[in-house]
Amino acid sequence: MFGLIGHLTSLQHAQAVARDLGYPEYATRGLDFWCSAPPQIFDPIQVTSITGQQIEGRYVESCFLPEMLAAKRIKAATRKIVNAMAHAQKHGIDITALGGFSSIVFENFHLSQIQRVRNVTLEFERFTTGNTHTAYVICQQVVAAAETLSINLSDATVAVCGATGDIGSAVCRWLSARTNIKELLLIARNRERLCLLQAELGGGVPMTLDHALPKADIVVWVASMTKGVGVDPARLKRPCLMIDGGYPKNLDQHFNYDGVHILKGGIVEHSLDIDWRIMNIVNMDVPNRQIFACFAESMLLEFEQWHTNFSWGRNQISLEKMDLIGQSSRRHGFRPLLDLNAAPLVA
Ligand code: NDP
Repeated sequence: MFGLIGHLTSLQHAQAVARDLGYPEYATRGLDFWCSAPPQIFDPIQVTSITGQQIEGRYVESCFLPEMLAAKRIKAATRKIVNAMAHAQKHGIDITALGGFSSIVFENFHLSQIQRVRNVTLEFERFTTGNTHTAYVICQQVVAAAETLSINLSDATVAVCGATGDIGSAVCRWLSARTNIKELLLIARNRERLCLLQAELGGGVPMTLDHALPKADIVVWVASMTKGVGVDPARLKRPCLMIDGGYPKNLDQHFNYDGVHILKGGIVEHSLDIDWRIMNIVNMDVPNRQIFACFAESMLLEFEQWHTNFSWGRNQISLEKMDLIGQSSRRHGFRPLLDLNAAPLVA
């Protein structure tokens, strides 16, 4: 059985969907109440591969909210993640994806040191960040959407915002090794880590977001921002392709400007319907077909019976593993979302 640990994008979002989630009493409550909400497990989810194989899984809502990090409610945030993991394990789930901020909180606050949650000893091999599949999907989106927009990669400058992160570094590695892009701009706040990445890649130019945006033909957004940032479209090149891979989405506005094309990044479409409520709750355009690539990774690991933490730790995603999960993704009927100018996910 596969599992998906997820969370909502904001307190406002959580209040709006509290009833659907099974927390009606929290619909009018503030952050304090959400800090004390227990994890919730949802009805069985059946997924059918295009090979005909069927698997079953569960969605686990952790009740983590990005505001917990912004408000420095770190203890609450970390408790949410380990409690959800223990809940998934107690329900016999073999492989569970840590969606959105779950894996970021796990890594940044060294939660691998917490092995026991009440009477459950966490078995980390039952969990995956899902980041290898997410990075694979984003890279495919860059190539396919550039072609649709007639952006020639050999003439293109690509900026990766969140370049030193787990997903961002994998995207940079893949773009450097597998494409002939003209220039790669590396964006993050920590300069030292940018220089280390540049040395590993043997190229790429560290740059601030402000300096990079006017130069970029393609911007990949994979920063761990708790809120989206506003971008002045007047400063962007035309055409400009923006692949918004963050969760919550890193761009905070709907773009409707000639020549600026937005693609929801790190999202796949399945070839067959999936009968579940949760993708409605996170406002997917086609909720029965579209899914975060990290969640799809746990489905793939279940289809393949690879019950192992396929994506784990930080900045260790190899091109070989991206190829492997990519083959599995195609084999079971997932394809990267390619609907340009799809509105960003909103609360
Ligand atoms: P990491 O924590 O590993 O990396 C985050 C990166 O963002 C780092 O390079 C960090 O560098 C950078 N960053 C953070 N804040 C800023 C800022 N204000 N300006 C510029 N750079 C910034 O995160 P992941 O790679 O695991 O995840 C990245 C994003 O992808 C998250 O939003 C996550 O929720 C989302 N995600 C999406 C999935 C999907 O299926 N679509 C699946 C999993 C994650 P520095 O701190 O030096 O600035």
